[in-house]
Amino acid sequence: MTMTLPYAEPLVPREPGERVIPEPPRRGEPGGPPCGICGGGITGAVWSDDNWTLHPPVGGSLPGAVWLASRVHVDSLSGLPEPLQADFGRVAARVERAILSLGDVARVHLYRWGDGGAHFHVWFIPRPLGMVEASGMMLPLWEDVLPNVPDEELAAAAERVAAAM
Ligand SMILES: [Zn+2]
Repeated sequence: MTMTLPYAEPLVPREPGERVIPEPPRRGEPGGPPCGICGGGITGAVWSDDNWTLHPPVGGSLPGAVWLASRVHVDSLSGLPEPLQADFGRVAARVERAILSLGDVARVHLYRWGDGGAHFHVWFIPRPLGMVEASGMMLPLWEDVLPNVPDEELAAAAERVAAAM
């Protein structure tokens, strides 16, 4: 078994759409909706320090998934002051180790998309042990297709991650 799309074959390739330039403003950038992270319209942090906050997802299918946000509103890694860029590596390692400690996790994937909001945040998604079809870029697709688990279960798993930080 190798990585596989969570859809039955055959899928039909299609052409990309017309490019949208300028792109629509994202949350938290000029002309866009307010930043949800700065505005507090997000799940409460299960862990935090002077630089970072760690949050559970809502409407997800993989308990143990969390997202880490900078306290400062910057768009991406390149916008962070250098000490915070370095500190991200330290904290990301702690988050990865904490998620792995939950057990039944093969690997922890990190995703920094940045297409929805302009406030730096990174997803940490556990690939379930043995779920090799969800390897690599397939994991977020499987995460989307699998049935959601209750938000309370996602929050409880995130609390266990926080406790292991
Ligand atoms: Zn923000």
